[in-house]
Amino acid sequence: MESNHPFVLLPPARRRAPAVLQDTGMQNITVLSGGTGGARFLQGLLHGIASGSLPGVATDATVTVVANTADDIWVHGLKICPDLDTVMYTLGDGIDPERGWGRRDETWSVRTELAAYGVEPTWFGLGDRDVATHLVRTQMLDAGYPLSQVTEALCTRWLTPVHGAAVRLLPMTDDRVETHVAIPDADSASGRRVVHFQEYWVRLRAQVPAETVIFVGLDDSAPGPGVIDAITDADLVVLPPSNPVVSVGPILGVPRVREALVATRAPVVGLSPIVGRTHVHGMAEQMLTSIGVEVSAAGVGLHYGARSAGGVLDGWLVDERDADQVARLTEAGIACRAVPLMMSDHGATAAMAAAAVGLVAG
Ligand code: GDP
Ligand code: CA
Repeated sequence: MESNHPFVLLPPARRRAPAVLQDTGMQNITVLSGGTGGARFLQGLLHGIASGSLPGVATDATVTVVANTADDIWVHGLKICPDLDTVMYTLGDGIDPERGWGRRDETWSVRTELAAYGVEPTWFGLGDRDVATHLVRTQMLDAGYPLSQVTEALCTRWLTPVHGAAVRLLPMTDDRVETHVAIPDADSASGRRVVHFQEYWVRLRAQVPAETVIFVGLDDSAPGPGVIDAITDADLVVLPPSNPVVSVGPILGVPRVREALVATRAPVVGLSPIVGRTHVHGMAEQMLTSIGVEVSAAGVGLHYGARSAGGVLDGWLVDERDADQVARLTEAGIACRAVPLMMSDHGATAAMAAAAVGLVAG
């Protein structure tokens, strides 16, 4: 970065002192993450690594998070990256734990003032503390920094103090990609209207059917710096229980990412976001229906597909309630086990991570 840029004031990335006695086992774990589901899984994964409860994983393993950026949106002239921020705030201990997004101890004066001016959109919740992140990000983007460098700078505040160099957060791409959704609209000549995914999700609460999901710009995007290497050089790649359509889907759609997953020497293991034929939180059900995928743990696993058959999975965990679906996955060439998949606390989530590692390692 330029020496006269204000962001040089941020502390340089703290590098972990080289361990005298090197831990053996897996050192590099890469996770393809959305927002809330991915971030909660990452908390458990990091807990499991630190406590040495993941079979075959070094206690000084590093985690690279490749995060979805297709939820990104410009609001009031600010660039908002919901999934990057959810991961950053969650792992940096700044998240509001009840909402699962945004800053803890948030206040809403900016939103109230904007509403008093009648400025749209009023449905997008911009908290006062959160706004600072978006201001810094937008300012840096305006100055010409790519999103990956902006994210790295923001993470020196959130991730470095807590995790040192053990966690890296990479946007899936530096290019602008946006998920849009076509919904029915009787007032439109075509009978449909296209809205940004955030409008579909936040304002419409996914209560109208999504006829089509469109990833604007995805086909022409390039993987962000480090993304392909993070998959190729990993010892393990994990698909957390993130939304398969609008979180993991766009990451897999960035050119060369799917190919890297198919080719990597690392095992690829995923965890079902669908438990007992519905999503746990959020709206994965609606999104799966819109792309014609069966709303079940097996449906999502088979949608990702077996690596041996051109898909991306070696292993897939389903919840114990879905044990009757294990055989379908095994028959399709995906190692599968039924274990508790509710991320009720860090310990339960670390146990999920341990089961995921155990399914494909060794
Ligand atoms: P978003 O970007 O905030 O929507 O978050 P993600 O895409 O990362 O994750 C959302 C998904 O996480 C939802 O579709 C849920 O099905 C899933 N999820 C949330 N909590 C749990 C949990 O405790 N267990 C499982 N298996 N899935 C969960
Ligand atoms: Ca998201």
